Amino acid sequence: MFQEFNSLFDMMQVFSDEKKCVDHFRAVRWSNGVVCPHCGSVEVYNLKDGTHKCKEKECAKKFSVRFGTIFDDSKIALQKWFMAIYLATSHKKGISSCQLAKDIKVTQKTAWFMLHRIRAAILVDRSEPLTGTVEIDETYVGGKEKNKHASKRIKGTQGAGSAKSKAVVLGMIKRGGELRLDVIESANSKEIAPLVRENVCKTATVNTDEGNQYNWMHREYEHAQVKHAMGEYVNGDAYTNTIEGAFGHFKRSIVGVYHKASDKHIDRYLNMFAWRWNSRDMGEGERVNSLLKSAQGRKLTYKALINKRGAYE
Ligand SMILES: [Zn+2]
Repeated sequence: MFQEFNSLFDMMQVFSDEKKCVDHFRAVRWSNGVVCPHCGSVEVYNLKDGTHKCKEKECAKKFSVRFGTIFDDSKIALQKWFMAIYLATSHKKGISSCQLAKDIKVTQKTAWFMLHRIRAAILVDRSEPLTGTVEIDETYVGGKEKNKHASKRIKGTQGAGSAKSKAVVLGMIKRGGELRLDVIESANSKEIAPLVRENVCKTATVNTDEGNQYNWMHREYEHAQVKHAMGEYVNGDAYTNTIEGAFGHFKRSIVGVYHKASDKHIDRYLNMFAWRWNSRDMGEGERVNSLLKSAQGRKLTYKALINKRGAYE
């Protein structure tokens, strides 16, 4: 069922018409047969137009495979959705709504909405705490790079990101493993400690810089601090280069593609970025299918996206 493909061209040869896309999504969504999304009945009619009708007399509702998914209420063909998912998940730096609009021939507004829905489908699984050596650091998204402390500046982003809104992002990464990103109110221990306790195993070795916000850690963790202010960046196994590298990638993806991630949507950008980072060993097809699997029950309404004035950004 999950044919391997490693290019957009290969994928579109597999999904050469709308019916093939519908059939594929149906197989991904209901791998054990169609289930009525209204009442949960497995007794359903398959209608000629590819939709379904529930056999339960009290329910008897008609539904399509899109119902209750990120594709719900969308008039855009699944073929275009599949292309959008491919482009949004395969490019390391993501894709802007302007570029996506051109690539799949929709309006920029539609592309913008599609990208938000795709990001909303990302499943964040934090059931397992990070183990081994974990690097923790915080960074600022938005605001002028030149105003930041030298150790927090990211090469290649100077002068960019002149957005007024600055978000503080806490990053935790298992060396050689998973990345987790969170927005925090400010970089103090009150904000950071609960997130670290929630996400990092008690037996882990934690590496941070010398910031006061990490002073509490030695009481709960094996804690190594790198003294950036002293010009120290690596001290044996103690370094934070992995998380700083991830921050660098994230910032460049924001600068190059999104221009500005407004605070309102930053959680979804972070989740998307971390997910792509964590699924870097997956094949392109595997990644598309993984997103399709989580596309159900994660509907995002237009109303939830736009701001009070009805503008989208
Ligand atoms: Zn039903």
